[in-house]
Amino acid sequence: MLRFMNTLGKCLEDFVPIAPPRVGLYTCGPTVYDHAHIGNFRTYVFEDLLRRYLEFRGYDVHHVMNITDVEDKTIARANAEGIPLHELTARYVEAFFEDIDALGILRAHQYPRATEHIPEMVEQIEKLIANGHAYAQDGSVFFRISTFPGYGRLSGMDMDGIQPGARVDCDEYEKEDVRDFALWKAPKTGEPVWQTRLGPGRPGWHIECSSMSMKYLGASFDIHTGGVDNIFPHHENEIAQAEGCTGAPFVRYWLHSEHLLVNQEKMSKSKQNFYTLRDLLARGYPARALRYALISVHYRKPLNLTMDALDAAAAAVERLADFHRRIVELPATAAAAAAGSNRVVDAVRQTEQDVTEALDEDLGVSTALGAVFDFVREMNRILDESGVSTEDRATVLGLWRKLDDIFGVFQPPVEELSSELLGLVRQREAARRDRRWKDADALRDTLLDAGVVLEDTPAGTRWKRRRAATTT
Ligand code: AMP
Ligand code: ZN
Repeated sequence: MLRFMNTLGKCLEDFVPIAPPRVGLYTCGPTVYDHAHIGNFRTYVFEDLLRRYLEFRGYDVHHVMNITDVEDKTIARANAEGIPLHELTARYVEAFFEDIDALGILRAHQYPRATEHIPEMVEQIEKLIANGHAYAQDGSVFFRISTFPGYGRLSGMDMDGIQPGARVDCDEYEKEDVRDFALWKAPKTGEPVWQTRLGPGRPGWHIECSSMSMKYLGASFDIHTGGVDNIFPHHENEIAQAEGCTGAPFVRYWLHSEHLLVNQEKMSKSKQNFYTLRDLLARGYPARALRYALISVHYRKPLNLTMDALDAAAAAVERLADFHRRIVELPATAAAAAAGSNRVVDAVRQTEQDVTEALDEDLGVSTALGAVFDFVREMNRILDESGVSTEDRATVLGLWRKLDDIFGVFQPPVEELSSELLGLVRQREAARRDRRWKDADALRDTLLDAGVVLEDTPAGTRWKRRRAATTT
């Protein structure tokens, strides 16, 4: 039985969707004012694992991720660059999609943008005003927290203890109570303005997510996720806005991933201690190694990112790819069928069971990956002793495909060499066949200079991309 640690209630709960096999999943998406940093990607990769595992377990997941393309930071950055807001956000939306594709993150089914959902937000705010949960003041509209007794339930926040200036909301507008937060913000110089039934202005950040999630997933849906920094105030506010509006329970399971840390501090733009995916690719780390590093630490544990951890992740991904290559390329023998089959079938069955049991328990990745590496060791022993039969190879590759569907790092990507480099590989093969060893060595060196490492195996010559040398 699949179980998750629900932030709401803080305990491990059996996963029972509202209308199985469908699962509605809403994940808070990027604020597109700059490249996302890899802290953000830790959360997105966790969400990707969650979605892929739910699909593996037979659920029909409908995944929605918002794109925040209007809030304080996007407006400030567009103004600083002297360009229209949509021009700035279009640039970083494109970069975001490039990055998630590189990291093997499955695309959500929908990516609603805040600027395209202003009417829905206005409608929700009007309902909240009508039922007394919100009030207009000086052209802005605020949520009246005193009318929502459940406020603080998700975060465990003691609302009486909130002091003026605390981070309930960082706007500078007058409101009845310091704890109230803005749903709609009156126009300010230099800010984009929408003319709406509420008057001119722009939405607050929190209302975006409750309006768009309910539009695409319904008033009540299954899972809502984000990083732990989203719990308060963002998700607390989303609950108040949604339930204040519909009266129905908003979300059944709230899952939050811990932060990615650098020197034990949260990676963030404001602390200037961040790396983007592009920074790490430029240092020679394959995106798959980063994906592995992010996925292999349980999502509820803080992850301190170091270059050593990335090196270890690159080595782990390489081991998995080497095993895959070995099983694909080893010539099948009839003798292997007699010798190895039962052991192979047992090992495959046991591994699938161990991985499933581990991931069923709140995505226990460490145990699951441990089972995979045990399998690789056992299989290598079997291959050394008795080779592989055609049937066994198919059985192992079947498991490997399933594992790759879950983790997204098991099948090596189909890399391509330029035709020029491929030509050199072929020339070297010919030189070796003709026993022109000097020529063969010279070609090997030329390829090495071009970043291509050759490995001669009984099944022929294989090539790999060499990782660039890293600086600290
Ligand atoms: P933002 O673009 O700041 O709204 O963040 C997008 C997502 O990344 C949210 O789910 C955040 O909780 C998450 N996030 C931000 N910083 C980190 C971090 N250092 N580690 C993990 N997740 C983060
Ligand atoms: Zn959100």
